[in-house]
Amino acid sequence: MLSEEEPTHSFKILLVGDSSVGKSSLLVRFTTGGFEELVPTIGVDFKAKVVELNGEKIKLSIWDTAGQERFRTLTSSYYRGAQGIILVYDVTRRETFESLEEVWLREVDMYATVEDAVKMVVANKTDLEEERQVSRKDGINFARKHGALLVETSAKGNIAVDQAFEELVLKILETP
Ligand code: GDP
Repeated sequence: MLSEEEPTHSFKILLVGDSSVGKSSLLVRFTTGGFEELVPTIGVDFKAKVVELNGEKIKLSIWDTAGQERFRTLTSSYYRGAQGIILVYDVTRRETFESLEEVWLREVDMYATVEDAVKMVVANKTDLEEERQVSRKDGINFARKHGALLVETSAKGNIAVDQAFEELVLKILETP
């Protein structure tokens, strides 16, 4: 039985993006199924989760910035060996969307060591539809321009969070 076997793959996945876009909340939601209004800013370094997809058992270590992003830069070691990178913005704060291009993609391009690391753009807080400042279309165009997928999520409402991580993993599996 597959569930008794050792994982066949082990992937390192990173969450990047401005402060307060919901990185820790997405990580907590995906790994524990819960949501807390006050996720500690410092503290969650990484969480591991084993998923079964396409008949394969995959161990994920998902890294969170632990608040370092407030200094607008992460260390190169954070990026080392990552097969998947999740770029998160908050749909209610346009500046967090602009930061992806201006700050985070640059860092990814500078420091990611895995050639063909898979990028995923996550537009979070879609439960706050009335406060939206970034349209779905803008998100899709941005993701497409950078060869990434876009998934719109709500960590709070548990919308498409599993889907975001799973689509990323499937794309990593497809990458030769
Ligand atoms: P991080 O700094 O990027 O890790 O962001 P956090 O996960 O700490 O979230 C920042 C704040 O946004 C917290 O108060 C969260 O409760 C809140 N938050 C996170 N995700 C969502 C969401 O999907 N919807 C709403 N309404 N709030 C969220």
